[in-house]
Amino acid sequence: MLNIEPIHAYSDNFIWAITKTSEQSLFVVDPGQAEPVIAYIKQHALQLKGILITHHHWDHTNGVEKLKQIYPDAIVYGPKNSPFKGTDVKLIQGDNLNILGHMFNITETPGHTLDHICYYTDDILFCGDTLFSAGCGRLFEGTPTQMFQSLQKISTLPATCKIYCTHEYTLDNLTFAKTVEPNNVNLTQYLKEVIHKRNNDINTIPTSLCVEFKINPFLRSLNPDNQFVIPNEFKNTNNKPESSFTSLRQYKDNF
Ligand SMILES: [Zn+2]
Repeated sequence: MLNIEPIHAYSDNFIWAITKTSEQSLFVVDPGQAEPVIAYIKQHALQLKGILITHHHWDHTNGVEKLKQIYPDAIVYGPKNSPFKGTDVKLIQGDNLNILGHMFNITETPGHTLDHICYYTDDILFCGDTLFSAGCGRLFEGTPTQMFQSLQKISTLPATCKIYCTHEYTLDNLTFAKTVEPNNVNLTQYLKEVIHKRNNDINTIPTSLCVEFKINPFLRSLNPDNQFVIPNEFKNTNNKPESSFTSLRQYKDNF
């Protein structure tokens, strides 16, 4: 079994640390800063074997150069077609990657950025800034259609899948979720749990796909039966399957 722990970076970033019981090898996901990773390595006497990158944004990649200087044997994995040039092994849709004896499958999920990829194995998903708890990434580079299709890909994973995204945005996202689905009782309950966790400085991540299907408006917009309260100015009236998603994203961007 893999152990996955958060290393905190910046104000709300998670750098995910992947280890295996009784082994010293470490993989990290999206090291936006080197210093907290170096401290973690020293604290647990680990060896950095590899770095997984989900997309090129600075808060996911800025620590790579320094980590490579200190740990030159660590291999950097990341998307093939990316503005980030620090990768050793370039990955595309369908590639498989052996991490500590577990085979991770690569899925391309453009939307937040065009180069975005996710890493999936055994009910574990590292999804960077594609899916958040109760939210999804902003569309900096991709189209609503691309992001909708990326979320569709994620939605086909087992409902038990744990979602390791890169930011603790849950509480803010829930304010929006409650606004667009005021009668969703699952949201009311989840909000209570999240307020309790945050008041006690407990992370809300990882979340799981089955929780997100109940409370995440962007994931719920994949199902045309779900209706949302959206002001007319943000309503997208085309009849495409992603129409609801597009409206939600536009509203959230202006919320
Ligand atoms: Zn990003």
